[in-house]
Amino acid sequence: MEYKYENLLDRAYKKMPEKLLKHLRFEIPKADIHLEGNQTIIKNFLDISEKLGRDSQHLLTFLLKELATPGIMRRQDAVLQRSLRAGMINKRLSDYAKEYVLCHECSRPDTKITELSGQKIIKCEACGAWWPMRRIK
Ligand SMILES: [Zn+2]
Repeated sequence: MEYKYENLLDRAYKKMPEKLLKHLRFEIPKADIHLEGNQTIIKNFLDISEKLGRDSQHLLTFLLKELATPGIMRRQDAVLQRSLRAGMINKRLSDYAKEYVLCHECSRPDTKITELSGQKIIKCEACGAWWPMRRIK
């Protein structure tokens, strides 16, 4: 009997536990933006922070700093006081995920913010690696 590579891959996926599948499919969420005059509204902001598993306020602070713009949260949206392109925001979301969400060792998203000797660290539950949580300056 001969198996095609795709079929084998398919079978392998089906055998994997649900949790592992989630890792393989993890994608950094993209901003759904809408311009209102000089403001940029990120319509799915809360959803993005939930997908990343991080506090929305922390994510917003990071974005505002990186994009050098003032802004606020308004219900599930983020309102940035500057006209921005989606690509600029998505690039920062990706930077955020790499620094604060995806494991620096194994690249999985199963990380948690915790404390070690009074210092905030990010710890990977998949491989046990950890790194100091960088402060947003
Ligand atoms: Zn890891």
